[in-house]
Amino acid sequence: MPIFVPAGLLEGDFGQRPEMHLFAGDRASWVRIDDGLPAFEGFPPGMEDFEPLETRPPLDPPGGIRGSCLCGKIRFVLDGPSRLARHCHCLRCQRARGAACASNLITDAGHLRWTAGGDLVHRYRLPEARLFRQDFCGSCGSAVPVVEPERGFAIVPLGALDDPPDVVPSERIHVGSRVPWHPIGDDLPCHAERAPR
Ligand SMILES: [Zn+2]
Repeated sequence: MPIFVPAGLLEGDFGQRPEMHLFAGDRASWVRIDDGLPAFEGFPPGMEDFEPLETRPPLDPPGGIRGSCLCGKIRFVLDGPSRLARHCHCLRCQRARGAACASNLITDAGHLRWTAGGDLVHRYRLPEARLFRQDFCGSCGSAVPVVEPERGFAIVPLGALDDPPDVVPSERIHVGSRVPWHPIGDDLPCHAERAPR
Protein backbone atom coordinates (compact mmCIF):
# COMPACT_ATOMS: atom_id res chain seq x y z
CA MET A 1 0.00 0.00 0.00
CA PRO A 2 1.70 3.21 -1.08
CA ILE A 3 1.69 6.29 1.06
CA PHE A 4 1.83 9.76 -0.43
CA VAL A 5 4.11 12.35 1.14
CA PRO A 6 4.06 15.99 0.04
CA ALA A 7 7.65 16.46 -1.10
CA GLY A 8 7.72 20.02 0.19
CA LEU A 9 7.62 18.66 3.75
CA LEU A 10 10.86 16.73 3.30
CA GLU A 11 14.19 18.01 4.49
CA GLY A 12 17.13 18.09 2.10
CA ASP A 13 17.60 15.93 -0.98
CA PHE A 14 15.74 12.64 -0.75
CA GLY A 15 17.37 11.48 -3.96
CA GLN A 16 14.33 10.98 -6.18
CA ARG A 17 13.11 13.24 -8.96
CA PRO A 18 9.65 13.72 -10.48
CA GLU A 19 9.14 11.47 -13.49
CA MET A 20 5.94 12.80 -15.04
CA HIS A 21 3.06 15.25 -14.84
CA LEU A 22 -0.42 13.92 -14.09
CA PHE A 23 -3.65 15.69 -15.03
CA ALA A 24 -1.83 18.15 -17.25
CA GLY A 25 -5.17 18.59 -19.00
CA ASP A 26 -6.52 20.31 -15.88
CA ARG A 27 -3.55 22.57 -15.29
CA ALA A 28 -4.09 26.23 -14.55
CA SER A 29 -3.66 28.83 -17.30
CA TRP A 30 -0.52 30.24 -15.65
CA VAL A 31 1.31 26.90 -15.39
CA ARG A 32 3.86 26.09 -18.10
CA ILE A 33 5.21 22.57 -18.47
CA ASP A 34 8.73 23.18 -19.73
CA ASP A 35 10.88 20.64 -17.91
CA GLY A 36 10.78 17.97 -20.62
CA LEU A 37 8.98 15.38 -18.47
CA PRO A 38 6.14 13.36 -19.99
CA ALA A 39 2.78 15.00 -19.34
CA PHE A 40 -0.43 12.99 -19.25
CA GLU A 41 -3.86 14.56 -19.66
CA GLY A 42 -5.14 12.52 -16.69
CA PHE A 43 -3.68 9.43 -15.10
CA PRO A 44 -0.93 7.68 -17.08
CA PRO A 45 -1.68 4.32 -18.73
CA GLY A 46 -2.19 1.63 -16.12
CA MET A 47 -3.38 3.99 -13.40
CA GLU A 48 -6.74 4.99 -14.89
CA ASP A 49 -8.86 3.33 -12.23
CA PHE A 50 -6.60 4.30 -9.37
CA GLU A 51 -9.17 6.71 -8.04
CA PRO A 52 -12.38 8.02 -9.62
CA LEU A 53 -12.42 11.64 -10.73
CA GLU A 54 -14.50 13.94 -8.59
CA THR A 55 -16.63 16.80 -9.78
CA ARG A 56 -16.01 20.31 -8.49
CA PRO A 57 -18.39 21.96 -6.01
CA PRO A 58 -20.55 24.58 -7.73
CA LEU A 59 -18.97 28.01 -8.28
CA ASP A 60 -20.39 31.48 -7.80
CA PRO A 61 -22.01 33.05 -10.88
CA PRO A 62 -19.42 34.50 -13.31
CA GLY A 63 -18.03 37.90 -12.37
CA GLY A 64 -14.56 39.02 -11.35
CA ILE A 65 -11.90 36.35 -10.79
CA ARG A 66 -13.42 33.58 -8.71
CA GLY A 67 -11.60 31.34 -6.27
CA SER A 68 -12.49 28.58 -3.84
CA CYS A 69 -11.08 25.91 -1.56
CA LEU A 70 -11.19 22.18 -2.24
CA CYS A 71 -14.50 21.57 -0.45
CA GLY A 72 -16.08 24.73 -1.87
CA LYS A 73 -17.28 26.06 1.50
CA ILE A 74 -14.93 29.04 1.20
CA ARG A 75 -15.34 31.12 -1.94
CA PHE A 76 -14.10 34.57 -2.90
CA VAL A 77 -13.94 37.00 -5.79
CA LEU A 78 -11.20 39.40 -6.88
CA ASP A 79 -12.86 42.42 -8.42
CA GLY A 80 -10.00 44.80 -9.08
CA PRO A 81 -6.69 44.72 -10.93
CA SER A 82 -3.97 42.60 -9.30
CA ARG A 83 -0.50 43.96 -8.59
CA LEU A 84 1.69 40.99 -9.55
CA ALA A 85 2.21 37.26 -9.15
CA ARG A 86 5.36 35.38 -8.21
CA HIS A 87 6.74 32.05 -7.05
CA CYS A 88 8.28 31.98 -3.57
CA HIS A 89 10.79 29.21 -2.78
CA CYS A 90 11.36 29.99 0.91
CA LEU A 91 11.28 27.17 3.47
CA ARG A 92 8.15 28.52 5.09
CA CYS A 93 6.24 28.38 1.82
CA GLN A 94 7.57 24.88 1.12
CA ARG A 95 6.25 23.59 4.43
CA ALA A 96 2.99 25.53 4.37
CA ARG A 97 2.07 24.32 0.87
CA GLY A 98 3.86 20.95 0.98
CA ALA A 99 5.33 21.87 -2.39
CA ALA A 100 8.50 23.13 -4.06
CA CYS A 101 7.26 26.70 -3.92
CA ALA A 102 4.19 28.83 -3.31
CA SER A 103 2.68 30.59 -6.32
CA ASN A 104 0.82 33.67 -5.18
CA LEU A 105 -0.92 36.70 -6.54
CA ILE A 106 -0.76 40.03 -4.68
CA THR A 107 -3.70 42.39 -4.85
CA ASP A 108 -5.16 45.29 -2.90
CA ALA A 109 -6.92 44.11 0.27
CA GLY A 110 -10.09 45.89 -0.86
CA HIS A 111 -10.18 43.91 -4.10
CA LEU A 112 -10.93 40.62 -2.34
CA ARG A 113 -14.49 39.82 -1.34
CA TRP A 114 -15.49 36.61 0.46
CA THR A 115 -18.68 35.26 -1.11
CA ALA A 116 -18.99 32.22 1.19
CA GLY A 117 -17.33 30.77 4.26
CA GLY A 118 -15.35 33.80 5.39
CA ASP A 119 -15.98 32.60 8.96
CA LEU A 120 -14.39 29.23 8.15
CA VAL A 121 -10.98 30.79 7.51
CA HIS A 122 -8.45 29.62 10.10
CA ARG A 123 -5.27 31.58 10.69
CA TYR A 124 -1.89 30.29 11.71
CA ARG A 125 0.71 32.90 12.47
CA LEU A 126 4.22 31.54 12.73
CA PRO A 127 5.32 32.60 16.27
CA GLU A 128 8.82 33.68 15.35
CA ALA A 129 7.84 35.35 12.08
CA ARG A 130 7.23 39.05 11.74
CA LEU A 131 4.74 38.66 8.92
CA PHE A 132 4.32 35.08 7.73
CA ARG A 133 0.83 33.70 8.06
CA GLN A 134 -0.90 30.63 6.69
CA ASP A 135 -4.67 30.90 6.33
CA PHE A 136 -6.62 27.76 5.49
CA CYS A 137 -10.07 26.26 5.27
CA GLY A 138 -11.16 24.74 8.59
CA SER A 139 -13.12 22.10 6.70
CA CYS A 140 -10.70 20.85 4.00
CA GLY A 141 -7.33 22.41 4.90
CA SER A 142 -6.79 24.17 1.57
CA ALA A 143 -4.64 27.29 1.61
CA VAL A 144 -6.85 30.36 1.17
CA PRO A 145 -6.04 34.08 0.72
CA VAL A 146 -4.29 35.97 3.50
CA VAL A 147 -5.86 39.42 3.79
CA GLU A 148 -3.93 42.18 5.55
CA PRO A 149 -6.28 45.20 5.71
CA GLU A 150 -3.86 47.26 7.85
CA ARG A 151 -1.09 46.74 5.33
CA GLY A 152 -3.40 47.18 2.38
CA PHE A 153 -2.86 43.95 0.46
CA ALA A 154 -3.97 40.35 0.12
CA ILE A 155 -1.86 37.34 -0.83
CA VAL A 156 -3.86 34.89 -2.90
CA PRO A 157 -2.71 31.31 -3.68
CA LEU A 158 -2.88 31.09 -7.48
CA GLY A 159 -3.98 27.48 -7.17
CA ALA A 160 -7.13 28.61 -5.34
CA LEU A 161 -8.39 30.48 -8.42
CA ASP A 162 -11.18 28.99 -10.52
CA ASP A 163 -10.81 31.62 -13.25
CA PRO A 164 -7.57 32.63 -15.00
CA PRO A 165 -5.78 35.42 -13.11
CA ASP A 166 -5.17 38.87 -14.64
CA VAL A 167 -1.44 38.57 -13.94
CA VAL A 168 0.94 35.63 -14.35
CA PRO A 169 4.07 34.95 -12.28
CA SER A 170 6.80 37.40 -13.27
CA GLU A 171 9.62 36.36 -10.92
CA ARG A 172 10.91 33.82 -8.43
CA ILE A 173 12.06 34.84 -4.96
CA HIS A 174 14.06 33.06 -2.25
CA VAL A 175 15.56 30.68 -4.81
CA GLY A 176 18.58 30.48 -2.49
CA SER A 177 16.58 27.94 -0.47
CA ARG A 178 14.94 26.15 -3.37
CA VAL A 179 14.60 22.36 -3.35
CA PRO A 180 16.94 20.19 -5.45
CA TRP A 181 14.18 17.99 -6.83
CA HIS A 182 12.24 20.66 -8.72
CA PRO A 183 13.97 21.96 -11.85
CA ILE A 184 13.23 25.53 -12.93
CA GLY A 185 12.57 25.31 -16.66
CA ASP A 186 11.49 28.88 -17.33
CA ASP A 187 13.57 32.03 -17.61
CA LEU A 188 11.79 34.20 -15.04
CA PRO A 189 14.04 36.56 -13.05
CA CYS A 190 15.29 34.79 -9.92
CA HIS A 191 16.22 36.48 -6.64
CA ALA A 192 18.22 34.62 -4.01
CA GLU A 193 16.16 36.19 -1.26
CA ARG A 194 13.37 38.74 -1.41
CA ALA A 195 12.71 40.90 -4.45
CA PRO A 196 15.01 43.97 -4.47
CA ARG A 197 12.36 46.69 -3.99
ZN1 LIG B 1 -12.65 23.91 2.28
